[in-house]
Amino acid sequence: MKIVILLGAPGSGKGTVAARLVAADATLKHVSSGDLLRDAVKRQTPAGVEAEGFMKRGELVPDTIIAQMIGDLMKGIQGECTLLLDGFPRTVVQAEILDKTIAGCGAELSCAVLLDVADEVLVERIAGRRGCPKCGAGYHIKNLPPKVEGICDVCGAELITRKDDNPETVKNRLAVYKSQTMPLIDFYKGRGQLREVAGVGAIDEIVTRVKQALA
Ligand SMILES: [Zn+2]
Repeated sequence: MKIVILLGAPGSGKGTVAARLVAADATLKHVSSGDLLRDAVKRQTPAGVEAEGFMKRGELVPDTIIAQMIGDLMKGIQGECTLLLDGFPRTVVQAEILDKTIAGCGAELSCAVLLDVADEVLVERIAGRRGCPKCGAGYHIKNLPPKVEGICDVCGAELITRKDDNPETVKNRLAVYKSQTMPLIDFYKGRGQLREVAGVGAIDEIVTRVKQALA
């Protein structure tokens, strides 16, 4: 089994790219750490039960428990498979824990793919998002505008911006991402495992570049 780590800032399009890759290749599996955590809690696996305890106390789930969930997942997979890890690791400490989990499962870390997108583009992408509070439809003022400005095409409700998507909040989220992830990028670069891919342009072009980086 092979492991590929997906790295990219909020708004870099990691999730979209991963979905496209998985749809085109049955040996690829997209593993978002958030989904993994929710699933383990729901199924009440030993790691899930432990994680739930931390969550109920309002505490962060320790890195080792997330790594255990990834290990459990790897052990449950038969045959040829490449896991695209999304959301873990985010820090060098997590990367070191993950290394041990991967070795313990007899798997191999292929590379870390970084979707590179300039800050101005990230801010524009995220700050342009609008959502319908009534039916949940999503829009973007530039890339996917509603027919009438500020109004939901589907149900006619007034569109809103999520608090997290305000330009100021976005800048803070990017600053947090950078302070955590820059050392992680250097960590993989130092081991010759970093593949940098330009995350701009048409989605098809981005997906093609990521495929080339994985080949
Ligand atoms: Zn609506």
